[in-house]
Amino acid sequence: MSNPTDVEGAQEAFDAAALLERYRVERDKRLHSPGEEVYLAPSGNLARYLDDPYADEESTRAPVTRTVQVALVGAGFGNLQAAVHLHNAGVHDFVLIDRAGDVGGVWYWNRYPGVACDIDSYAYLPLLEEMGYMPTQKYASAPEVFQYARSMATKFDLYSRALLRTEVSEIRWDDAAAEWVIATEQGDVIRARFVNLATGPLQRLRLPNVPGVETFAGHSFHTARWDYAYTGGDAFGGLDKLSDQVVGIIGTGATAVQAIPHLGAAAKHLYVFQRTPAPVPPRNHKKTDPEWWASLQPGWQQARIENFNRAVLGEQIDEDLVADGWTELKRIGIAAVKGEDAEARRQVADFAYMQSLRDRVEAIVEDKATAEALKPWYNSDCKRPCFHDDYLQTFNRPNVTLVDTKGRGVERITPTGAVVDGHEYRLDCLIYATGFDFNARNMAKRNGFEIYGRDGRSLTAKWSDGGIATYQGYFSRDFPNLVMQSGAQGVMTANITHTLGEGARYLTHLVRYAQDRHVRTIEPTEESEQTWVDLVRSRNARGPTDAACTPGYYNNDGKPEEGTGISAFFPGNSQRFFARLHEFCRTGTLAGFDVAE
Ligand code: NDP
Repeated sequence: MSNPTDVEGAQEAFDAAALLERYRVERDKRLHSPGEEVYLAPSGNLARYLDDPYADEESTRAPVTRTVQVALVGAGFGNLQAAVHLHNAGVHDFVLIDRAGDVGGVWYWNRYPGVACDIDSYAYLPLLEEMGYMPTQKYASAPEVFQYARSMATKFDLYSRALLRTEVSEIRWDDAAAEWVIATEQGDVIRARFVNLATGPLQRLRLPNVPGVETFAGHSFHTARWDYAYTGGDAFGGLDKLSDQVVGIIGTGATAVQAIPHLGAAAKHLYVFQRTPAPVPPRNHKKTDPEWWASLQPGWQQARIENFNRAVLGEQIDEDLVADGWTELKRIGIAAVKGEDAEARRQVADFAYMQSLRDRVEAIVEDKATAEALKPWYNSDCKRPCFHDDYLQTFNRPNVTLVDTKGRGVERITPTGAVVDGHEYRLDCLIYATGFDFNARNMAKRNGFEIYGRDGRSLTAKWSDGGIATYQGYFSRDFPNLVMQSGAQGVMTANITHTLGEGARYLTHLVRYAQDRHVRTIEPTEESEQTWVDLVRSRNARGPTDAACTPGYYNNDGKPEEGTGISAFFPGNSQRFFARLHEFCRTGTLAGFDVAE
């Protein structure tokens, strides 16, 4: 691709006003009426979309009543890391709770064909040195990631401390005992001094809010509940039962981009219903070189994780260790800090980058109209890049049709298909690749349970009244000893397991701190919480959360009011944030907290 830092040359090549106008026009096509809900949460007669197709048997265990030091809610990489750090710090009295039938979080649920992690596996898979594991490839397949999560649980004896297939119904603070009381649908009552909530933003799946979703009479499922009994094959493809099926897939996000090549290879005919084209740079996959692996020195993984983060942040680094499509984006960041005209330079670098993606579409997709419809028109930080080497090529297959809805989305579902521009596409099978409810403000909806703090006041009530309010993104006043790894006003990194690892270490520090000093409660002061909230709100400036971006989950579908979508994140430099957190733990003063013994 063209070099985005060559801004002098590039400045001449772009008509900035015309391009920004084109971005605006494309974005406006996608805007819906104010107040209109774009998505449906599956409930009522749509609740079947939530059923777990991977669970092998009904849970029949007796209800558990226990008191533990720490309850780890969510068994994905957030709490797997927390469990390992607690274990290493000598804290063994914890329980791991998850509604899924195994550990792994998103990697338990997302088993669709082609599913893989597009973050460098040597940075993504946590604690590789402790685990003594060499990932097989630069980008691990989901089965490898899932198996890795399971091996963490085995190695650190976490299954014996796990309550799986266990649905939390509420978490309530007992002030007299200074404990959280966790009730579950299975009748368990778990009391815990600390709760670490690592439930993730990609768990509550969503369907489009269009008429007729409940009427479809063919076969239908969401990508996070893939039905292999119907399609045949597995996460590596081979969907042999689709050879006589007309299949429709709604959505062209990171999930769909990975699944579509396999559907295209297998279905009698595939209709891809697109609302906004994804940005699709190349992935450039490769196998792990055992010689390189053997040459790595102790401490290499944390160094790589930090190097990757600094690269993505656009910081100057001596060597780009990961050197992939993510770190290539850093050049846009670097352009933004050079010289006086930083924003103009960033914009030009971004124009060049996005043009390179449109050129790639042009070079690969043979049909002109299809190629035009697949070209992305927005700034690079408006949508997550979907690195793939086979996605665009799939549209050259005679059995694959792109149905471009020009920003409006599918109009309606009928018993026999999906309607766009008044035309019904008849389908045997309809797959929703329509993503997840990202909204952090209504954490209860996202989690499926409410948290009640002091005086029985719910987190939803607190955050509805005054907006999301946290200290450091981890704590909220009146919810003592509750550590949230949810991301609300917290720190975002491209490599989520990095953020979760830092959070896990922080939790461990606080638990040890409380244990060693016989501390009953830790919670932020009113002042520190307000200062944090002011900081987050004041710095939500231009960027992916901006209403100027094409709508998507980053900006709450074009309505980025405070506290929703990704706009709820702390927008500062994550590397500096983590450094401050380390310093905070090192000095051990717990500034900004009320600490009660
Ligand atoms: P997304 O929310 O990113 O995508 C949902 C898709 O559905 C969008 O393309 C959206 O269009 C489309 N859509 C919604 N409603 C309609 C409609 N009515 N008609 C047509 N299209 C519609 O969800 P994903 O599951 O794709 O990805 C979620 C996140 O999961 C990713 O961003 C990433 O963080 C993670 N992920 C990570 C992977 C990895 O490699 N590490 C792989 C896969 C997912 P529009 O774009 O217009 O909103």
